[in-house]
Amino acid sequence: VPEQHDRRRRRLAELLVEQNLDALLVTSLVNVRYLTGFTGSYGAALVAADGATVFATDGRYQTQSGEQCPDVELVVTRDLVETLAHRARGRVGFEAHQLTVETRDQLPDHEATHWVAPGRLVERLREVKDDDEIELLRQACKIGDLALAEVVPTIRAGETERQLARRLDDTMRSLGAEELAFPTIVAAGTHGAFVHHEPCDLELSAGDLVALDFGARYAGYHADMTRTIAVGPVADWQRELYELVAAAQSAERAALAPGADARMVHEAARAPILAAGFGEIPHGTGHGIGLEIHEAPIIGYGRAATLEAQMPVTVEPGVYLPGRGGVRIEDSCVVRDGTAELLTTTTRELLVV
Ligand code: ZN
Ligand code: ZN
Repeated sequence: VPEQHDRRRRRLAELLVEQNLDALLVTSLVNVRYLTGFTGSYGAALVAADGATVFATDGRYQTQSGEQCPDVELVVTRDLVETLAHRARGRVGFEAHQLTVETRDQLPDHEATHWVAPGRLVERLREVKDDDEIELLRQACKIGDLALAEVVPTIRAGETERQLARRLDDTMRSLGAEELAFPTIVAAGTHGAFVHHEPCDLELSAGDLVALDFGARYAGYHADMTRTIAVGPVADWQRELYELVAAAQSAERAALAPGADARMVHEAARAPILAAGFGEIPHGTGHGIGLEIHEAPIIGYGRAATLEAQMPVTVEPGVYLPGRGGVRIEDSCVVRDGTAELLTTTTRELLVV
């Protein structure tokens, strides 16, 4: 939608003026997509402080970019950075977190251009989503919810983690996912103690907790959810652990609010788990989602950030017990005035198969 991208470029232009920059060379493809609508794999943009934008891509994407970003000046070239860099004048920012040292060294240094690294400006804009973005995230999350509802009743002891992951992935695709948001995690039994276990040929057994961390990508937007289910029978320690993590997750969700310090949101999840004697959560308990699966803000120990309305973030505390298993519960939410909106709506009660 050209108006939407124009609006984003104008917001960036305001930020450039604030930063005393004359332009920003945007080489991150995700940022290029955010600002122009271009979805190809080769493109860059130069956005000036008055909003004027030059977009560069090569011949493969000439027609596509004409359709996707008709409102910006198009330059067809093989040398994206070099071509755009020569159009730049004044104090020009580049994306130091994205550009290689090799490419940085090719930026022309002459009197008319002074290159500066202003930090992650476009990423900062991307933290707060517009309504259209939140709607796409809602669609992505819905695919995950529907897929899980379809798959859970079919889960059986004796099938492997890999078979279950494959079935969940296929179901998300058949329900409209353009891709997976990230490789699906299925961690059964003792594998649940590994935060990012890769599904393998281990068979699910009676008495296992099984963590499923997965999400669909829809129109470029990434969903993220985790449910830990039980292959019955459920032992007392498993149910207690589950209830503890569910309570921590609920406390973390309740802490989401405009103006909230992300460190305090993390603390809301961390405190009950520490109090129960399980030690530190070995990972952050939330992150922004959007055109990337992990975006700002990060909710984690000692990570400074202030939440704002319209920020989609995950809440995902977990407890991991080596040799026994683990529980993680993760939802995708949107920070709102008042209660946070849940984009993932699958029950947080323990599902037993
Ligand atoms: Zn996840
Ligand atoms: Zn996550």
